[in-house]
Amino acid sequence: MAALSMDVYKLGFIGAGNMAESIARGVAKSGVLPPASIRTAHRSPERHLVFESFGVKILETNAQIVDDSDIVVLSVKPQVAKQVLLDLKPFLSEEKLLVSIAAGIKLKDLQEWSGQRRIIRVMPNTPSAVGQAASVMCIGEMATKKDEERVASLFKAIGKVWTADEKYFDAVTGLSGSGPAYIFLAIEALADGGVAAGLPRDLALGLASQTVLGAATMVNQTGKHPGQLKDAVTSPAGTTIAGIQELEKGAFRGTIMSAVVAATKRCRELS
Ligand code: NAP
Repeated sequence: MAALSMDVYKLGFIGAGNMAESIARGVAKSGVLPPASIRTAHRSPERHLVFESFGVKILETNAQIVDDSDIVVLSVKPQVAKQVLLDLKPFLSEEKLLVSIAAGIKLKDLQEWSGQRRIIRVMPNTPSAVGQAASVMCIGEMATKKDEERVASLFKAIGKVWTADEKYFDAVTGLSGSGPAYIFLAIEALADGGVAAGLPRDLALGLASQTVLGAATMVNQTGKHPGQLKDAVTSPAGTTIAGIQELEKGAFRGTIMSAVVAATKRCRELS
C-alpha cells in the first residue's frame, strides 16, 4: 500500500560527478524514488557505468534530461554552470524545478542564466558520500511548498537538511562546506597525539575518528549544549581538564572560529 502513496516524479542530474552520485545513490537506497525515475546523461563510459549499476537511466544529452525530468539538478562544477544553463535555457520552463548545488552560484545568477524562477539552491557537503551530509537550502521566489518538501526529502536521503535565507550561504560554506576538512585535521592531530603518547598508529587513528563520531552523536542525540557535556566529563584536577587547559593555551576555540570566518570571507571573495 505504501508504494501507492509514494510521491513519484522524475529527477535528472546535469553533471554525473561525485555529488550527483552520492545524491542519486542515497535517493535510490532510501526508497525516496525508484532508480528508474532518476536520469543523467552519457558523458564518459566510466561514469555512465557507475550510474547504470544502480538502475539510473542514461540519456544522450543534457537537453534530453531536462525534457524528461520534473526536477533538474545542476551538479556540474561552478566554473561551467553559466554555459551549461545558457545552453539549457530553451529547454527549461516553469513546469520544472531547477535545483542547483553549484557552490557559490547565487539564485539571481541561476535565474538570469536559466530564465527560470522556480529554483532551489542547496549547499551539501562531502559526508553526503556516507549518508551524513549537512545540507542547507534556500528557496527561490517561484518554488512551491511542494518543491521545498520534495527537495528536503531528496537531501534527507543523504543526511540532514536545513532551510535558510541565501544571505547565510557564504557562512554555511565556511562552516559545513569546509568543516569536514577541519575535522580531518583534528582527527589526524588526535591520532598523532596518541602515537606521541605511545599508541600504535592503527589503534590511535581508530580511537580518534570514533571519538569524534561519538562526541558529535552525543551533541545531536542529547540536545545538550556542548559546554554542558564537556563539564560532565571534567572532574576536578582530572585528566580531561589538564588536556583542555593545553587546548585553551593554544587558542583552540578561537582558532576554529577564525577558520570558519576566514573560509566565509574567501567564499565571499570568490562568488
Ligand atoms: P565533479 O565530481 O567534478 O562532477 C562534475 C561533473 O560534471 C563531472 O562528471 C563532469 O564531467 C560533469 N560535467 C562537466 N561539464 C559538463 C557539461 N557541460 N554537461 C554535463 N556534465 C558536465 O564535482 P562534484 O564534487 O560532484 O561537484 C559538483 C557540484 O557540487 C559543484 O558545483 C560543487 O560546487 C558542488 N558541491 C560539491 C560539494 C562536495 O562536497 N563535493 C559540496 C557542495 C557543493 P567530466 O569529468 O567529464 O568533465
